Amino acid sequence: MCPEGGEAREDCGSREEWTLLFWTSLAVIVPVILTLWCSAQRSKRKTYMKEFFRKSKHGWHYTDLFNKPTYCCVCSQHILHGAFCDCCGVCADEQCLRRADRSLPCKEIMAPSRPDGSTEHRWVRGNVPLASYCAVCKQQCGTQPKLCDLRCVWCQTTVHDDCMDGLADAETCDLGEFHSLIIPPHYLHLVNKLRRRHPDEFTKLGASCGRSWTPVLVLANTRSGNNMGEALLGEFRTLLNPVQVFDLSELTPSKALQLCTLLPPGRVRVLVCGGDGTVGWVLDAVDAMKLKDQDQFIPRVTILPLGTGNDLSNTLGWGAGYAGEIPVEQVLRNVLDAEVVKMDRWKVQVASKGVYFRKPKVLSMNNYFSVGPDALMALNFHAHREKTPSFFSSRIINKAVYFLYGTRDCLVQECKDLDKRIELELDGERVALPSLEGIIVCNIGYWGGGCRLWEGMGDEPCPPTRLDDGLLEVVGVFGSFHCAQIQVKLANPVRLGQAHTVRLVLKNSTMPMQVDGEPWAQGPCTITITHKTQTFMLYHSAEQTDDDDDESSTSDPERPQSCNF
Ligand SMILES: [Zn+2]
Ligand SMILES: [Zn+2]
Ligand SMILES: [Zn+2]
Ligand SMILES: [Zn+2]
Repeated sequence: MCPEGGEAREDCGSREEWTLLFWTSLAVIVPVILTLWCSAQRSKRKTYMKEFFRKSKHGWHYTDLFNKPTYCCVCSQHILHGAFCDCCGVCADEQCLRRADRSLPCKEIMAPSRPDGSTEHRWVRGNVPLASYCAVCKQQCGTQPKLCDLRCVWCQTTVHDDCMDGLADAETCDLGEFHSLIIPPHYLHLVNKLRRRHPDEFTKLGASCGRSWTPVLVLANTRSGNNMGEALLGEFRTLLNPVQVFDLSELTPSKALQLCTLLPPGRVRVLVCGGDGTVGWVLDAVDAMKLKDQDQFIPRVTILPLGTGNDLSNTLGWGAGYAGEIPVEQVLRNVLDAEVVKMDRWKVQVASKGVYFRKPKVLSMNNYFSVGPDALMALNFHAHREKTPSFFSSRIINKAVYFLYGTRDCLVQECKDLDKRIELELDGERVALPSLEGIIVCNIGYWGGGCRLWEGMGDEPCPPTRLDDGLLEVVGVFGSFHCAQIQVKLANPVRLGQAHTVRLVLKNSTMPMQVDGEPWAQGPCTITITHKTQTFMLYHSAEQTDDDDDESSTSDPERPQSCNF
């Protein structure tokens, strides 16, 4: 009996254990399966959306949370997440997305005008910009908690639903404030119908867009400056014709610039959103147009600087770095007001010693060439940034790290006695060097992220410089500590002279060098810097920012002479 009873109890106990095990595993496995299933669904939905967005005529973007009260353009419901088109501003939740895509047209990039040459407004209902005012009653629009009020996707006019009947110019759209920057859909329609594509024909067609028409192409590098480029692309697509806004991560500058060859020669402006490096990339593409016999289509280049310490942009009056301080509309107004200046571009040839059969390395230079401590700083910085890119995503950390490298190398003195290892020739004449550690050759007024190198500080007179004088300014520095002192305006560099051609012979040892912030280590070689081309840039007055806001930032010594084109 007893053993039997024990067996039964044991049996009972093991069953209890099994039940416990079952429920425990159920409690663990079910959530895991659910999570896996959800994430699989999510990624499936994402790939589906991506495919859907790619095929769509709209420029859809998905967001998990809209940054302002948003209503679905199809079902009129208030929505927290969903998709929006950054060209026409239509918003929709996931359920209504397909219907929105089918039934609501996007901003048409190419369309005929009416027989009299005018075009009509293209109204989109609801989700008007936050601080927009009615063109009729001047009261704020979009204040009611529903899908209400209208905005024209071309002229950006906003009007209340009830005021629509009172709109004076309800029939014709004049493309609004930025009409002289927008490529109107009817222009492209006419170009497309042309039988003979000749520049004169474009000029004739361009006359219909007004005498002051200077269409702008926007080329944005979405990888520059904390991914600001992505948001900027959307804002420019909203304000301009989406066809004139290019993402440089999808299309090279030379492909984007081909649009210039369909526009009236001599009128096109190109706005580059990116760092000095991106500007150099675009200017190389502009030079390539000259080689393709497209001289007459060459655009005037202007800059919206992303990232920090953009000396070229700063020299041309566009500031050292843009972080959204002024609205995009103001950026376009500045482009409208800018004047055309010419700027020299240079060719840097590096012929390594003892290598006779290989072609010398050839680089383009807009900003500066240097050998010595500042190139070493750039080289160290570059090497570390490659290793830990995430650490270098902040502007402030970048600046701090850069400064640390500078001071650390005071102790190392890797560039010691440069004057004994290098020969400098300005326009064929040998220059006697004082005891130096670095030589900097400048084309533009600013160096090292907002420092006026040639003028320096104090009132000491110096030979004048211009962006288009075909001359380079050559200075020497005593070491990295001296470099740091120059950057905080406690010292001046040694002026070595100005020249049309600069030749440097590095006799022995390896030295750090850089062209426009791109550093490398270079063995014995001969470096020749000669004039390459002149390019048309746009200059914006009174926007130059020195590192600290002292009184010198209001003066304007590097102001280039504008030319009438
Ligand atoms: Zn909906
Ligand atoms: Zn759209
Ligand atoms: Zn309009
Ligand atoms: Zn109104």
